[in-house]
Amino acid sequence: MTLAPNSPEARDIAYHFHSYTDAMAHAEQGPQIIEHGEGVFVFDNHGKRYVEAMAGLWSVGVGFGEDRLVAAAAEQMKKLPYYHNFAHRAHPAAIDLAEKLVTMAPVPMSKVFYTNSGSEANDTVIKMLWYRSNALGKPEKKKIISRNRGYHGVTIASASLTGLPNNHRSFDLPLPGILHTTCPHYWKEGRDGESEEDFATRCAEDLDAMIQAEGPDTIAAFIGEPVMGAGGVVVPPATYWEKIQAVLAKYDILLIADEVINGFGRTGNMFGCETYGIKPDAIVMSKQITSSYVPFSAILLNDRFYEPIAEESGRIGVLGHGYTGAGHPVGAAVALENIKIIEERDLVTKSAENGAYFREKLSQFARHPMVGEVRGVGLIAAVELVHPELGDTLPAGKLGAAMNKLLFERGVISRAMMDAMAFCPPMIIEREEIDLIVDAFADALTELEKMDFAA
Ligand code: PMP
Repeated sequence: MTLAPNSPEARDIAYHFHSYTDAMAHAEQGPQIIEHGEGVFVFDNHGKRYVEAMAGLWSVGVGFGEDRLVAAAAEQMKKLPYYHNFAHRAHPAAIDLAEKLVTMAPVPMSKVFYTNSGSEANDTVIKMLWYRSNALGKPEKKKIISRNRGYHGVTIASASLTGLPNNHRSFDLPLPGILHTTCPHYWKEGRDGESEEDFATRCAEDLDAMIQAEGPDTIAAFIGEPVMGAGGVVVPPATYWEKIQAVLAKYDILLIADEVINGFGRTGNMFGCETYGIKPDAIVMSKQITSSYVPFSAILLNDRFYEPIAEESGRIGVLGHGYTGAGHPVGAAVALENIKIIEERDLVTKSAENGAYFREKLSQFARHPMVGEVRGVGLIAAVELVHPELGDTLPAGKLGAAMNKLLFERGVISRAMMDAMAFCPPMIIEREEIDLIVDAFADALTELEKMDFAA
């Protein structure tokens, strides 16, 4: 590839160290530069249009170019561009949003703690859990159970919660005291002859056995996404959450719902907890809270979680935790307007109805020889690719990478989670736009079939 030395591509290679990218490959192939967005579409620096079938990173719920969010940000910037919430200070946007989040929570919640990203929020949850256990005089109750293929972020502690090898390898992670239990993916983990419900029972038994082996008094919490996102869009088997919650209740272990992807309509309800009857002690929110127009995250805590922490801070002095950008006025104002848009336009119902249409359309691929499973709920889905002859001898991720490229060439941005092609488009997507994704997928699949992976 020859690039003009001053081209944006050449300058990107020269100066920009990318997230989640093979740096050596990047130096060879360079970036795809996205310049602007409109609705469900983004446009690259050569003017080519793509359907953003991942809503960025599962996050631009109301779509690109939403003027109301731009106006909310501009207005707030003029009025009060920055303030914090340290040492009893507050500003109206943070108060309004905290009230709104507590009011709309799917289960009784008591307080909102603000952070800036999903990773930071989960890191904060871990610190709060430790602080709480100390407050309760149970300093041994500090371990946290997450799941294989769960995704909770990349800071040192949240990357430890994440159950994906790539987030641990060469980083000396996970931290001790963070454990991973069975991934509830029936298609991959279910045994011959085992029903979906039996598999759910086995997942709960595995959790119970882990708690017993570690000592119930050493476990502070269990964390999970209602539907797993970055681990490959893993939809839990029927009865899973009910059985998991029964185990946690037996041992006085808190439940943390990571709604960073699920929240604000993605699963066809406002929260994934509603979709699966989950009653958590804390809910972690980010991404669609502002449609990612501004980095923002929040943790909702119930009384059971919050009260001991509050009392301890009263005993030992101020809570030694908080971020400069927490509850940022611009983020809070954008979040409020974004939630208003989701409610006014009933994007939750739209996500449920168009999600059903999308999954129905994708189900036509289920019998294709290169498709192992089509799965999803609401407006989040994945198509798992398999190779009919090479099977597991083909390195994981090869098919996904090839398909990703084929889709991109056809004007659709998806994301390969190993060999699962994920779809999580903006919730404003219309059926004609869904058809564009499905048609491109059909065409790309035909092309994928012709490719020689044995070489
Ligand atoms: N939790 C979940 C469920 C996520 O999907 C993500 C990001 N994909 C995170 C946490 C981490 O969020 P961030 O990238 O903002 O740190």
